[in-house]
Amino acid sequence: GELDVDALRQALNEIVRRHEVLRTTLVEGESKEGIPVQLVAEQLELEVLLEELVVVDGEDTASAARRVLEAAGAEPFDLALGPLIRVRLLHLASDDHVLLVIMHHAISDGWSLELFLKEMRELYAAFRHGKSSPLAPLPVQYGDYARWQRDWLEAGELERQLEYWLDKFPVELPALDMPTDRARPAVQGYRGAAVRFEISAELVASLERLGGTQGATLFMVLLTAYKVLLSRYTGQESVSVGTPIANRGQVQLEPLLGFFVNTLVMNTDLSGQPSFEAALQRVQETCLGAYSHQDIPFERLVEAINPTRDPSRTPLFQTLFSYQDMSSVSLDMDEVALTPFELPGTVSRTDMTLWLTRGLQSGLHGLLEYSTDLFDAQTIEGFIERFQVLLEGIVAAPKTAIGKLPLLLVNEREQLVQEWNDTAADYPRELRIHDLIAAQVKRTPDGIALEFEDERLSYAELDERANEVAYRLRGLGIEPATLVAVCLERSADMVVALLGVLKAGCAYLPLDPDFPSQRLSFIFEDANVSCLLTESSLRERLPETRAPLLALDEAGEIEPGPLVSGTPNDLAYVIYTSGSTGQPKGVQVPHGTVVNLLMSMAEEPGFTAEDTMLAVTTPAFDISVLEMFLPLMVGGRLVVASSDDVSSAERLQDLLSGKGISVMQATPSTWRMLMDSSWRGGAHLKALCGGEALPQELATRVAQSVGSLWNLYGPTETTIWSSVYRFALPTDPVYIGRPIANTQLYVLDSNGELCPFGVPGELYIGGDGVTRGYLNRPELTAERFVADRFSGIEGTRMYRTGDLVCYRDNGMLEYLQRLDDQVKVRGYRIELGEIESVLGTHEAVNSAVVVAHEMGAGDTRLVAYIVPESGEMDASTLREHLRVQ
Ligand code: AMP
Ligand code: MG
Repeated sequence: GELDVDALRQALNEIVRRHEVLRTTLVEGESKEGIPVQLVAEQLELEVLLEELVVVDGEDTASAARRVLEAAGAEPFDLALGPLIRVRLLHLASDDHVLLVIMHHAISDGWSLELFLKEMRELYAAFRHGKSSPLAPLPVQYGDYARWQRDWLEAGELERQLEYWLDKFPVELPALDMPTDRARPAVQGYRGAAVRFEISAELVASLERLGGTQGATLFMVLLTAYKVLLSRYTGQESVSVGTPIANRGQVQLEPLLGFFVNTLVMNTDLSGQPSFEAALQRVQETCLGAYSHQDIPFERLVEAINPTRDPSRTPLFQTLFSYQDMSSVSLDMDEVALTPFELPGTVSRTDMTLWLTRGLQSGLHGLLEYSTDLFDAQTIEGFIERFQVLLEGIVAAPKTAIGKLPLLLVNEREQLVQEWNDTAADYPRELRIHDLIAAQVKRTPDGIALEFEDERLSYAELDERANEVAYRLRGLGIEPATLVAVCLERSADMVVALLGVLKAGCAYLPLDPDFPSQRLSFIFEDANVSCLLTESSLRERLPETRAPLLALDEAGEIEPGPLVSGTPNDLAYVIYTSGSTGQPKGVQVPHGTVVNLLMSMAEEPGFTAEDTMLAVTTPAFDISVLEMFLPLMVGGRLVVASSDDVSSAERLQDLLSGKGISVMQATPSTWRMLMDSSWRGGAHLKALCGGEALPQELATRVAQSVGSLWNLYGPTETTIWSSVYRFALPTDPVYIGRPIANTQLYVLDSNGELCPFGVPGELYIGGDGVTRGYLNRPELTAERFVADRFSGIEGTRMYRTGDLVCYRDNGMLEYLQRLDDQVKVRGYRIELGEIESVLGTHEAVNSAVVVAHEMGAGDTRLVAYIVPESGEMDASTLREHLRVQ
């Protein structure tokens, strides 16, 4: 409308006249150094100039105004010089203006803004019509309040209230760990942005009704819902949220402008899967407790609690929730209509802040302010959508356990269960690994199959020699379908022997000659092997065994003749991995799951008859199976690196270039060793990396040096690899990607509910890669291999990985961390519990705790903390102590 600029100027200056706080500057006091005091100017005249809006090329009026206002907002205040209030008035059209009022937070707060608006409206209307101020004179000023507050708190109130809070936070609570899009910077930045949204009037009315049935305010209902959402996103049950509180306990304070607002930490324990109603009751108690101890300034509370300093986050809470009811504010000023001119936020005080305002429109006006160091807009939009879904779910069924309330968007379930897992692909379901290789032998008998140093074997020769191994096993009386331990140095014979064992219808148990002899003895005993296949030079290192020993390089009986046929359900190998209770466990892998894996890998990342693989991995890791058998299955060439080769970057380089290698698979530590050497890479090389998390920095370096880089993920229990991802753009996260053929990946929370994308949960793997489970460990097998409820097929199982992962909205899976004490050290899978229990068996040790420290650059150190036999502390106390330290 038509604006009377004079009346407005008078109104604004009358407000400044009324409120000392607006004429305040903060200067260093004389009494105590560094302590600022409030200085009130006798007089302060605000210039209110009507500025013509300058619109530059290509801008519309609104964006021009926004540009000017943002620049004005970004100008700093000088606390000592003042003024701490600034006003700008932009003229857009004769009936369209923008008024910008900027006040330093030291002299105002949310309540003050409402009050400011109210006074401005009333004064404007009066002055416009030549009347005098209708506002009652102020009984007290902000300075009076400040003095009173200080005296009151110091007279014992502070201590009384502190006691409540210290009692409420006896131990330091873990920070709210929201899943972020980017790694959290070491020092918190304040760059932010905001996303706006609305909650419909209908939904608000239902929420209010729901609160009403148990005497809770709308604020409490919304806060509870917000906490539930945070808890579902983080998997944390103790959720702290900061909330601003008006803090104007006395009526005399109500008409004052100034900084009164305080922040309360609302911590609620949401454990035990309460219903929403029960959770609401807990939040209600939290709020009421906090309200009756609301006077202690937040910064004093932080001082008293003195949490461990973490410059990457705000103390005590990492998210704010603000609810403001503006329904009593009317938005007209005489004949001028007022509308909020919204500016995009550019700061974020915490990880995220949820602002909900009532009264600006029907329903609730929402704004989610977030740190742009941590989150992408898309993630925040998803968060908001889920908040809405959750609110609807709460209204529909408030008795639902909070972990079961809906979060999934329309069609999301289908996307998570079917669409992203739609991996069906044909493969020869009736064949075993060596059947595929036998077919290749027929196709290219004279082609080069295998090279080791100067030795070369054609497909026919490989086949012949492997048959010989099978005949010798038979000569020793080894039955098909039994387990043959294989302990050999890296050589052509190693591959020959493993293939021979399979051809004999047996499964192999790979043993690394470098394993300590205790471990070898344990595995022999545990697996009850029928034979130990080795070479004479290793004999001495091997423990005594009842099973017959076959040294490949020594003469022996052979029993030729056709080899038995078997089925893809027969075991191909058993591989031992670390066990948390102190003993390793054997994973039993049948042929069929391996055939599926190999067929899938031949497609993606891809391997053809033209390719040459450099095999560098010990057969004691399952990924060696791919290195050895994938080339042989498709008619490619396999080059076996010796054990000296695999630990030397120079020798690997020579092999890579000298042997025309096109594919190499290795753990990140081997790739790092190469990258840190003089290696130049190769444009034709396909680099397969997996076995542990691939750091972004390493991925970027490798990707720049090779033709393509693939991040592969998979536990031994689901056959080598279960997901693949091609890392192409250095700016992309290093996803673990999508499921391989005939594989389903589900991300589930601790209640077994599907986690929406963006929400971390445990990865469960279903499909054709799922193996038979652990050898002779039915209980452990039942615990980790559980019924697959999603497949729709009776009897199918899925494997619980213990890996915390998160689906992204593009269907990519991101690996986050382990949920237990399993670590990877140079590709070795180690349960820290295994080390702890071994240490614990020593007579001088009472208890032990092993901790993995990431040292950067792929280096992990394991440190054992030991309480001696004479010591008192138990392991769990020690563990807690270490966590806090
Ligand atoms: P293993 O059975 O030795 O293959 O170990 C499987 C475990 O290694 C997985 O459960 C993950 O914890 C970890 N792992 C394997 N590959 C990756 C990868 N590409 N990124 C992150 N973790 C991985
Ligand atoms: Mg693996």
